[in-house]
Amino acid sequence: MEQTGEVLVLFFLGTMGACVGSFLNVVAWRLPRECMSIVRPRSRCTQCSTWISWWDNLPIISWLILRGRCRKCRTRISCRYFFVELATAVWFAGSTKLLFGDAPLLHSSASQSVVWLHYGVVALIFCVLLVLALIDWDYRILPDQLTIGGMIVGPLLAFAAPDVQHGRMLLHLAGDGAWALRTDAALNGLLGMILGAGVLWLVGVIGTRIWKRDAMGFGDVKMIGAMGAVLGLWVFLALVVASVTGALAGLVRLAIRKDHQIPFGPFLGLGMLVVVVAGPQVLDLWLGLARV
Ligand SMILES: [Zn+2]
Repeated sequence: MEQTGEVLVLFFLGTMGACVGSFLNVVAWRLPRECMSIVRPRSRCTQCSTWISWWDNLPIISWLILRGRCRKCRTRISCRYFFVELATAVWFAGSTKLLFGDAPLLHSSASQSVVWLHYGVVALIFCVLLVLALIDWDYRILPDQLTIGGMIVGPLLAFAAPDVQHGRMLLHLAGDGAWALRTDAALNGLLGMILGAGVLWLVGVIGTRIWKRDAMGFGDVKMIGAMGAVLGLWVFLALVVASVTGALAGLVRLAIRKDHQIPFGPFLGLGMLVVVVAGPQVLDLWLGLARV
């Protein structure tokens, strides 16, 4: 009985994730086109402008049924829509495993509601990072609505779900008391925002002096500020992960296409997700490697 319940919960979360992923596709398409509203109107085919009916707009399924083409003009619809929906569905269902471990999903206890709040905050972080990565990939910009918005909301998210900072690398600023851990997390968020953005801004200024061209976009600095606002000092580990994976991807691209211009935003997003899910493990691995 309990297992049926768990499968139903996972199915529900996955379906919700697919729908949210569909919305994220719309946001990533419309947000950079500033004259467009996010919520209205309904979607059209970008080629023949036909309104897309709801039954051709079902997340994941419709793309498969239509084999990735517009029903009317048969123009190819990018497989990215499909993969964004699939990835969000997998994350919404799968991240329960990462956050809950083997604990039962349906268990009404106080500690369980804390975990579900943590789950919600991580899901929100995933969505914002995915949209930022898509827009940065397409246009090489990171919209202020998301980066500055993240800096404002970040400490509140840390307050709501202090577990995103893993209870480690935390400067105890708030003293003792019932709310101390949450207040600490929010204050560490403010600190992470100022230090993270500050350090990156300095690196950018020095880089521009040395190479005589813009080394770091200001959008990246604001995104790191937003990441620090949630992660606190963990933002620096996210930066390490982003730099390593970004450099590797740059080398691969250089080998294939003879150019190494790739946006940093998607790798910053990856770094943050890795730290949110497995920060302490990655830190221990890194420290272990440093000791060898
Ligand atoms: Zn069409």
